[in-house]
Amino acid sequence: MDAAPLARAESLIRSIPDYPEPGIVFRDITPLLADAAALGEVIDALIAPFAGRFDVVAGIEARGFLLAGAIATRAEVGLVPIRKAGKLPRPAASVSYALEYATATIEAHDDLPEGARVLLVDDVLATGGTLVAGHQIVRSLGGEVVGSAVLLEIAALGGRAATGDVHAVFTV
Ligand code: AMP
Repeated sequence: MDAAPLARAESLIRSIPDYPEPGIVFRDITPLLADAAALGEVIDALIAPFAGRFDVVAGIEARGFLLAGAIATRAEVGLVPIRKAGKLPRPAASVSYALEYATATIEAHDDLPEGARVLLVDDVLATGGTLVAGHQIVRSLGGEVVGSAVLLEIAALGGRAATGDVHAVFTV
């Protein structure tokens, strides 16, 4: 595989120091999303290890939705959104967890088909709390998590120790 298009895509991720709080380097993927070639490359790279092995993609609010939507159409699978608390009218599962710079609760509807094989997707892996909570949500809805994929892993935050195996397209 030609690594140059992916390297170009990675170069489009912008690092914003001290956002949303002092000491946090925010990884802004919106310039990458705005570039058609880069977006196509990273969607293919997110899917590749799991191709043909999942029936549903579960995207975590909010930037995980953007990736999950593109993955769903490319892989021809359904999509289940995992939302922040209070946004869904009939949440069937709810999990609270700690973030790098906040605490949060996520929820999902019980819309997983029976025995669904689920690919869990988010934009960034930091401490891992969000992905662990996402796993718990999918499992409590009766789904099987076949894998987790993120665009960018912040290795220094050690999230992988909490989540176990995660497919990261890029690592900083
Ligand atoms: P964590 O649960 O600590 O792994 O945090 C991952 C979640 O928080 C993802 O949904 C990211 O969108 C967001 N996040 C955490 N840290 C950052 C960061 N430095 N830059 C961008 N997003 C982040």
